[in-house]
Amino acid sequence: MSDTTSLCPRCAHETIEHIFSSPVPGVWEVLGCGRCLYMWRTSEPARRTRRDAYPEAFMMTPEDIAAAPEVPAVPPLVADYQVTGSAWTP
Ligand SMILES: [Zn+2]
Repeated sequence: MSDTTSLCPRCAHETIEHIFSSPVPGVWEVLGCGRCLYMWRTSEPARRTRRDAYPEAFMMTPEDIAAAPEVPAVPPLVADYQVTGSAWTP
């Protein structure tokens, strides 16, 4: 059995990139997958960091990634708005 900690939890890609280290050395690392762009911190629970514990409903295959729809564009900012209580009104 392969070591599932060296696979992307989401797409099982074998190349994991080191993104960032905790300010206090050795506490956690941020890792990322170059194929599906999933990122996780090593201190997160197994369901977010290990392929064998990642929810099956959110797993992706290379075919899923290739067929994924375009990421929606962020709409333009609203020029004028008023903040009323906890809500805002354009
Ligand atoms: Zn991935």
